[in-house]
Amino acid sequence: MPHPEILPNAEQEYARLDALLEAVPLAVAVFDGQLVLAATNARYRDLTGVDVSQAVGRSVYDAFPNALADLTEQVDIAAGGVPVVAVRVPFQYRGGRRLVEATFSPLLDARGGRGLLFAGSDITEREGLREDLARSVAQLESIFDVLPDSVRVVDAEGGTVRSNAQAQQEHASANPQTLRELWQLDRPRTLGGTTLFVHEHPTARALRGERVRGETLEVRRGTGGEPAVIEVNSNPLYDPHKRVRGAVTVERDVTERTRLQQRVQTEAERLERMVQERTRELLALQEAAARDRRLAAIGQLAAGVMHDVNNALNPIMAAAYLLEMNAENPAAVRDYAVRIARAAETGAATAARVGRFIRQEPLLGAREDVVDLTVMVEEVVAMTRPLWQERAKGGVIRLEQYLIQGATVRGIAGELREALLNLVQNALDAMAGGGTLRIETTLTATEASVSVKDTGVGMSAEVRERAFEPFFTTKGVNGTGLGLAEVYGIARRHRGRAEIESAPGEGTTVRLVFPPARPESSTPVAQRSERPARRVLLVEDHVDSREFMQSLLESDGHTVEAVSSLEEARARLSDLQAQIDVLVTDIGLPDGSGWDLVAFARDKRPALRIGVVTGWEPRNEQDPACDFTLRKPVGATDLLAQIAGDG
Ligand code: ADP
Ligand code: MG
Repeated sequence: MPHPEILPNAEQEYARLDALLEAVPLAVAVFDGQLVLAATNARYRDLTGVDVSQAVGRSVYDAFPNALADLTEQVDIAAGGVPVVAVRVPFQYRGGRRLVEATFSPLLDARGGRGLLFAGSDITEREGLREDLARSVAQLESIFDVLPDSVRVVDAEGGTVRSNAQAQQEHASANPQTLRELWQLDRPRTLGGTTLFVHEHPTARALRGERVRGETLEVRRGTGGEPAVIEVNSNPLYDPHKRVRGAVTVERDVTERTRLQQRVQTEAERLERMVQERTRELLALQEAAARDRRLAAIGQLAAGVMHDVNNALNPIMAAAYLLEMNAENPAAVRDYAVRIARAAETGAATAARVGRFIRQEPLLGAREDVVDLTVMVEEVVAMTRPLWQERAKGGVIRLEQYLIQGATVRGIAGELREALLNLVQNALDAMAGGGTLRIETTLTATEASVSVKDTGVGMSAEVRERAFEPFFTTKGVNGTGLGLAEVYGIARRHRGRAEIESAPGEGTTVRLVFPPARPESSTPVAQRSERPARRVLLVEDHVDSREFMQSLLESDGHTVEAVSSLEEARARLSDLQAQIDVLVTDIGLPDGSGWDLVAFARDKRPALRIGVVTGWEPRNEQDPACDFTLRKPVGATDLLAQIAGDG
């Protein structure tokens, strides 16, 4: 395109200029001295929408029809000879917007007129990128500052390059510029108390290429330099050649957390100590309570024994005194001797019962037999039944029995019978006015039991609690308080237990539970064997004792004649018509000693089988005059065996 006004004589120059105009990445327009368009390039035409045919002769003021800003001022300044550089001008561009950085430069034309050069660079993309970048940086910066952790970026020499708001706030007054300054302010120490050298600082280590993770340090902070605990992470920063160019260090203040942890731990320790202390106190209290109960029981036992021993000793002492006074009078001597014997017997009986309570050590195998609980129940029922109504103060007693076969245990028949007897007696005592007595035996793989149930007055919780204590009784002078104590001791000795189920007005069940005897054991001794029936003369002044023995003997099929004095006994023995196979006599009798009766009987009837029953030490265990001696309280098995003559 020819440009006669600018370079009229140089065709080649025009061609070169044109090529140049098209080559530069700018929109270019050249205006002549009248400020009329003289030359344009394609970029200009594209930007402004002014095509070649419209371009020539157009005034500079019409040369940017789609510019979104008024360029008159810039044009005038440049036309006045002063270049206007890098004006940002938005253009409306085919529905979109372009941002152009424009330069208006004054030109001198060949005739000395002023011309104008417009060069526009499209910076839309660049500007968009720049804005994006600026936004990102701003975002990152605000994130950087909003972090609760302190972040510090240092260069390879440890000089602070950048720090966030938190980091600046932590050292507001000092504003450390290097790692060394920071280290001097912080004086970092391990939690163990070891002071770190500057080259041991996590940032220093990161500068040597180490990644430091979760290191906990104590540092001095604030104006007073009060200690704070921080958790530090530090990373080396690399350049593209993998050389360390700096480090970024993040510190988190964990003082509160650490303090809280310590407090929680201290609190937990305190609680644990408290619990331990309380437990100890409680155990001590429990022990004391148990000791108190034990002492109370022992006290009661001692008091009871003392009471009974005194009861026995008083008449003995009185009789001994009188014995001495009347030493010359044989009749009186005999009388006092009898009294002493009787009193001592009572004492011995108490001692035996207490003994059965106290001796709770398991039986020794050698002395054990297999005892059938059912057979034992039948025996005890048979021997006590005649007395039931009287014992229950005239009330009618109904009997229910639930007895099974094979309920056998290992033990001492006499003791087990004694225990059952005590239970029956208690049941009868509770049913003054009548009721139902129910006796039951049971057997399982692990337990053999016998229980005695009554429909009597029942027990309060307190009585139930104390019923097994020796000498505990609610029966006043009518009770000894030894029955259940004995039962308890016997159950324990037989590796078993005694259980009470009772409530006031609801009756009582006492159950004795034992391990069952193994089936291959020998035949039960308590089983009633076929024994020859004997005619027995029984001499006993003590009513209970007498009736007990009589019932027992009769239940075994013997015929019994019972008397209560020496005199009656002598009369029966003298009557040679009277058929008597066995004489059983008490020693302490109201009108003389049983030993005299033994001598008398041996004299009258040489073939008679004679036995004495005594709680008092017999004169001679092997007294030739008598065939057997039974100690009180008399065991049913022993008595029956001796009467049968096979003992
Ligand atoms: P005792 O019969 O001499 O009082 P025990 O040791 O046999 O002594 O019994 C202790 C106490 O237990 C009795 O005084 C009584 O209060 C209570 N007790 C025992 N058995 C029964 C029962 N079957 N029914 C109600 N109370 C009973
Ligand atoms: Mg009793």
